[in-house]
Amino acid sequence: MTAPFLEVLAATIPDLHLSTDGVDLEAHRRDETAYLEPPLPLAVAYPASTAEVAAIARVATAHRVPLVPRGAGTGLAGGANAVAGGLVVSLVRMNRVLEIDQENRVVVVQPGVVNADLKMAVAAHGLHFAPDPASYETCTIGGNLATNAGGLCCVKYGVTGDAVLGLEVVLADGAVVRTGGRNVKDVAGYDLASLFVGSMGTLGIITEATLRLIAPPAPKQTLLAFFPTIEASGAAVAGMVRCGVQPCTLELMDAFSIRAVNAACSLGLDESAAAMLLVESDLPGAAGVEELDRAERACEAAGVGLLVRAQDAAEADMLREGRRKAHWALEAMGASRMEDVVVPRSRVPDLLRAIHEIGRRHGLEIGVFGHAGDGNLHPSFIFDRDDLTGPARLQLAEEDLYRATLALGGSVTGEHGIGVIKRSWLEATRGPEAVRVMRAVKAALDPLGILNPGKLL
Ligand SMILES: Cc1cc2nc3c(=O)[nH]c(=O)nc-3n(C[C@H](O)[C@H](O)[C@H](O)COP(=O)(O)OP(=O)(O)OC[C@H]3O[C@@H](n4cnc5c(N)ncnc54)[C@H](O)[C@@H]3O)c2cc1C
Repeated sequence: MTAPFLEVLAATIPDLHLSTDGVDLEAHRRDETAYLEPPLPLAVAYPASTAEVAAIARVATAHRVPLVPRGAGTGLAGGANAVAGGLVVSLVRMNRVLEIDQENRVVVVQPGVVNADLKMAVAAHGLHFAPDPASYETCTIGGNLATNAGGLCCVKYGVTGDAVLGLEVVLADGAVVRTGGRNVKDVAGYDLASLFVGSMGTLGIITEATLRLIAPPAPKQTLLAFFPTIEASGAAVAGMVRCGVQPCTLELMDAFSIRAVNAACSLGLDESAAAMLLVESDLPGAAGVEELDRAERACEAAGVGLLVRAQDAAEADMLREGRRKAHWALEAMGASRMEDVVVPRSRVPDLLRAIHEIGRRHGLEIGVFGHAGDGNLHPSFIFDRDDLTGPARLQLAEEDLYRATLALGGSVTGEHGIGVIKRSWLEATRGPEAVRVMRAVKAALDPLGILNPGKLL
C-alpha cells in the first residue's frame, strides 16, 4: 500500500524533493517535545510551490495517507510530530518573501520564511513585522500562523493572528482556498483566515500569507523591578494596566528562575527578590522615559524593592538577557518541562501561588517565567535526571496545574497549542459543545482525516 503511494507521488510530481533517508526521517520524527516517542514518518516531502503541495494532498487523499505539515519543528506541543504511515510535508523550501508593499504596509510571504528573516527583509524597507516568539531566529511564519504564536511583545502588538490579512491554504483534497487579502477591512462571509490560524495543520496547509506591517518602533527603554513578594509584582502589573501604561514587554521571573539565570549567566540579578518584572517601552525618546516613569510609580505603589533602569542600549540588552535565557537556565537545573498556561491578568498572583503549591505537593522544584502582561506563564517543573519517579510526579503536577488554571478562569495553553500533549484537556477547557463544533469543522474540511490526525482534536 505504502510503496505505491510514494511511487505515484514521485510519478505525479516529477520535480518533488522526496526523502526516505533514515537520517531525514529521524530528523522529522518530532518537534521540541524530546520526551515523546512518535513513530518515524513514511517519508519527507519538500514541496517548492503551492501546486506541488496541492498535488501531494490529492495523491495522499487518493491513497488515504496522512500528511503532517511542518515548519522548523520548534513547536512545543508535538504538533509537527510524525504519525504512523504518514508523509511529513516540510515547507522549508517555500521560503521566499514574495512582495513588500510599502504603500499598503503589507508583506506577502511563503510559509517557510524564518520569522527573523522576514523581520530583516521588511526592516530594509523601513517597516516592522511585530510577532516575536522567543524562537524567532529559527521558527517559520507557517508554524507561527498554524500555532498562532505569541511572544514577548504580544502585550502591545498582539499574537501572530493579529498580523494576518490573508492566507492561501491547500485543503486535504488539494483544493486551494484564498481568504482575505490587502484590505484593512473586509467582512465578506465567514472569517476563514482566523479558522486556519492556530489550527496546527489539521484543517489545511498554509502556502502563502499576506501580513500586516507597522512602522518600526523606537529602540526599547528597559526597566527591571524586583519585588519582595509575588503579590507585590502582581499588584504592580495591575497598577500599570489601571493607569494605562502600555509597555511593549511586561515579563515576569520568579525567585527560582532568577537564581537559575544567575547560575547560568552570572548576571547578578537580586536573589533576595520573590519576583522580577522586566518592563520595556518602545515609545520614542521622552515619551518612552515618561512611560517607564509611570511604570516605576506603579511598582513603587505596589512596594517594589530594587529598581534598575538601563542607561543605554547595551545595558538594556544585558538586562533583557536574563529573561531571554530563563528557559535554558532552567533546563540546566535538571530534567525539566516548560509548561504554558494563561489566566486573566488579574489572576497571575493566584496562579503563581497555585504553581508553587503544586511543586511542593509533588516534590518538584519549580521555576516560573512568562508574559505577565498577557497572564501567560511558563512554569518549568524540574527534577533530578537520575530520579526515576520524576516523570510520573511531573505528570501529576501538570494535571494539577491545568485544573488550577481552569479554576482561575484560564486556559491550558496560551501560545504553544494543544498539539498532541494536551488533547485530553481540550474539552475541559472549551466545553463539549465547542469541541463538537470543532469536530464538525474538521469533518467538513477534511472528512477523511488526512491532515495531521491525532493532533488538537
Ligand atoms: C526556545 C523556544 C522558544 C519558544 N518561544 C515561543 C514563544 O515565545 N511564543 C510561542 O508562541 N512559541 C514559542 N515557541 C514554540 C514554537 O517556536 C512556536 O510554536 C512556533 O510558532 C513553531 O514554528 P515552527 O516553524 O517551528 O513550526 P513547527 O514546530 O514545525 O509546527 C508547529 C505546528 O504548525 C503546523 N504547521 C507548520 N507549518 C505549517 C503550514 N505551513 N501550514 C499548516 N500547518 C503548519 C505543524 O503541523 C504543527 O502543528 C518556542 C520554542 C522554543 C524551542
